[in-house]
Amino acid sequence: MRDMTMVTNAHKANGASTIPLIPLTPEQELTTRIRLAQALQMSLDPAEVLNLFYTHIQAIVSLSGILFKFGNGSSELKIGRECLHHCDYRLTTDEGYLGEIIFSRSKRFAEAELITLEFLLSSLIYPLRNAIRYQTAMRLALLDPLTLLGNRAALDTALRRELQMAERHQHELSLLMVDVDFFKKINDEYGHHRGDLVLCEIAKGIQSACRGSDITFRYGGEEFVVVLGKTDAEGAKIIAERIRQQIAESHIKYNGKTIDTTVSIGIATRHSNEKEHINDLFERADKALYIAKNSGRNCVISSDEILIKS
Ligand code: GH3
Ligand code: MG
Ligand code: MG
Repeated sequence: MRDMTMVTNAHKANGASTIPLIPLTPEQELTTRIRLAQALQMSLDPAEVLNLFYTHIQAIVSLSGILFKFGNGSSELKIGRECLHHCDYRLTTDEGYLGEIIFSRSKRFAEAELITLEFLLSSLIYPLRNAIRYQTAMRLALLDPLTLLGNRAALDTALRRELQMAERHQHELSLLMVDVDFFKKINDEYGHHRGDLVLCEIAKGIQSACRGSDITFRYGGEEFVVVLGKTDAEGAKIIAERIRQQIAESHIKYNGKTIDTTVSIGIATRHSNEKEHINDLFERADKALYIAKNSGRNCVISSDEILIKS
C-alpha cells in the first residue's frame, strides 16, 4: 500500500510494466486537473465525489472499480466492481488520515499508470476531505450528544419518511412516547451528572428492548420517541410493554449505589387506511402518555384504548 498526501511520488507497481505508458503532456495534465477539479467541486457527498472521480479518470486510466474505506472505520464505499489487480493508497491530509482507496481492474497496473493515478489522486484528496467533513457535520447535527441517539431534527425527518412509506404501501405505523417517571427526583437525589448517566442507560435499555427496524430518538430532556414501522397497535403495545419492563428491572448501578427508575409510555398508531398528519400522531401519543402518568406511572397506554373507552 502507498501513502498519499498531496505529493505524487511514483512507487513500484506490483510486477507491472507490460502495458504501454500513457504519459500526459503538460497541457493535457493541466486540462485534466482543471476539469477534474471542477467536477469534484460539484458535490459534498463522498459517494458522489468518488463517483465523479471514477467517471472522469476512465479516459486516462481505465478502472473496473474503486473501494474507499473511511479512516474512522465506520463504513466503506464501493463503485464499479472489484477485480484481480489492485493498487491501494492511504490518503492523508495535514489534518490526519482520511481513509484507504483501492483501485481495481482485471489488467495489471503499469508504472506510468500509477504515476498518473497518483497525480489524479492529488485532485481528489481535498474535495473528498471536504465532503467527509460536511457529511460528519450533518450527521452530528442530527445526533443527541449525550445518548448518541437521533435528536428531534432527526426524528422529524425519519418520521416524515416513515409516514410517506406507510401511506404509499398502506402500512400501519406506531409511535411510542417514553417519559422517565419522577426524573427530577433522580437529579435531586443523585445529582445532574448521575442523572445524565441514567438517561444514557435508559436510552440503551429502550434500544435493547426494540427490534432492529425500530428507531429510537431523544425527543428532549427525559423523553424519548420510538418509531415502529409496519407495526399495528397490538404489536406496538407488546414492544412498549417490553421497554417498560426492561427499564423497571434494570437497577442501574453507579458507585456502589443502585438507581431504580421506571418509564411511562403513550402509543399512537396510524392505521393503514388513514391519512394522518405528523402532529396528530404526536398529539395522540402525548395524550396517551398523559393518561399513563395519571394512571400511576410505570405503565403503557395506547391512544386506541382511550378512543374505545370514551
Ligand atoms: P414525571 O413523572 O411527571 O415525568 O416527573 P419528572 O420529574 O420526570 O418530570 P419533570 O418534567 O418535572 O422533570 C423532568 C426533569 O428532567 C427536570 C429536568 O431537570 C430533567 N432533565 C431534563 N433534561 C435533562 C438532562 O439532559 N440531564 C439531566 N440530568 N436532567 C435532565
Ligand atoms: Mg417529561
Ligand atoms: Mg418525566
